[in-house]
Amino acid sequence: MKKLDKYSIGLGDRFGHQGSHQLKAIMDASAKGIEITPVWNKSNREHTIIGTNPSDVRNEADTVTKKAGYKKPYFVDADHINLDTVDRFIESSDFFTIDVASYIGKRADEEEIHEFLSGVKKYTGKLTIPGTRLSFSTPKLLIHKIAEKYLFASIKAWDIYRKIEKVKGSGNFVTEVSMDEVAQPQTPVELFFILKMLASENIPLQTIAPKFSGRFNKGVDYVGDIDKFESEFESDLQVIDFAVREFGLPENLKMSIHSGSDKFAIYPIMGSLIRKYNKGIHLKTAGTTWLEEVIGLAESGGEALAFAKDIYIKSLDKIEELTAPYSDVIDINVSSLPSKTVASKWSADEFADALRHNKENDRYNINMRQLVHVAYKLAAIKKDEYFRLLDNNEKVVSKCVYENIYNRHICRLFNIT
Ligand SMILES: [Zn+2]
Repeated sequence: MKKLDKYSIGLGDRFGHQGSHQLKAIMDASAKGIEITPVWNKSNREHTIIGTNPSDVRNEADTVTKKAGYKKPYFVDADHINLDTVDRFIESSDFFTIDVASYIGKRADEEEIHEFLSGVKKYTGKLTIPGTRLSFSTPKLLIHKIAEKYLFASIKAWDIYRKIEKVKGSGNFVTEVSMDEVAQPQTPVELFFILKMLASENIPLQTIAPKFSGRFNKGVDYVGDIDKFESEFESDLQVIDFAVREFGLPENLKMSIHSGSDKFAIYPIMGSLIRKYNKGIHLKTAGTTWLEEVIGLAESGGEALAFAKDIYIKSLDKIEELTAPYSDVIDINVSSLPSKTVASKWSADEFADALRHNKENDRYNINMRQLVHVAYKLAAIKKDEYFRLLDNNEKVVSKCVYENIYNRHICRLFNIT
């Protein structure tokens, strides 16, 4: 089976220009003793907005790894696919994030629900996770509710998995199931029964992306109760560990953290817990690299700064259109966005400081950062000019991309000093 190693990171590269700089961050971590598998991920939504194809991501990954002489495993992730969108990803991807969010809450057949309930009889009443202090009350009514909410989605995951397996052959790809883009987080108890459902469908699940409590807004820090997150994350780790043994799921099954970029407040917590339990992690980042491109262009000054300003100023006119597909994963306070007049007068440093994720800097604006995060469509419209500016200012831009992935993300999560 194509196996995903303990640590891996999803590297989104919307415009396909930064792969080699992202890879350098991975290789530098390896030089420090931390082996991380790079996974280039891009969703159908991003392909559609930018006008690219899954084969473009495959080309980029193959090209940059070959050029760097990189001999370790790497993957191309068909991010957030479902039955309707999976087809065009199958050939070029070897990692599939099966997104069941839209099926959650739809009811499976009564017969299927009853079959599931009879299969989990031994966990009814009280669920104790052996070797831990975790014990949950699991009355039949609760399990029934969980089945009503998630069983249909699990069956759909199986349908999608079979569709991929038919073409690629069993064992030739990594399977993730994601349920993060929903309104309600899943509790550890729900996660346990969801894993049972997925195991019953014989899905060789290597990563699972639950939704956690708190806000995982795109490109900005975690918002929520950090202690609560810590206990939830720890319980999830223990539940997964037990589910692997109990249901015969792949032993390398690990959590995948979506919208995982820039969650600096919880990296030390996730990092210390995965080390404590000797567990792996998959951290998905995507738009953070695009933001670094814009920061790099701003820092470059001249026409590159003008381009960056133009993106921001145009985004102010299109807030609703740009933010609509991301409503569950952004929180923009429109009245705190810098105005067109203010932004148009900014120096290179002022623009870069407002956008860069550095809370020590008074100019950092979390609202502007989220808006620009979803404004990549505006660069896609002027792709030729954008690519020319990226190429002309490659040195500055790539430094931003590299430092962001390596210093701010990898070093903080994996405790590299
Ligand atoms: Zn996601």
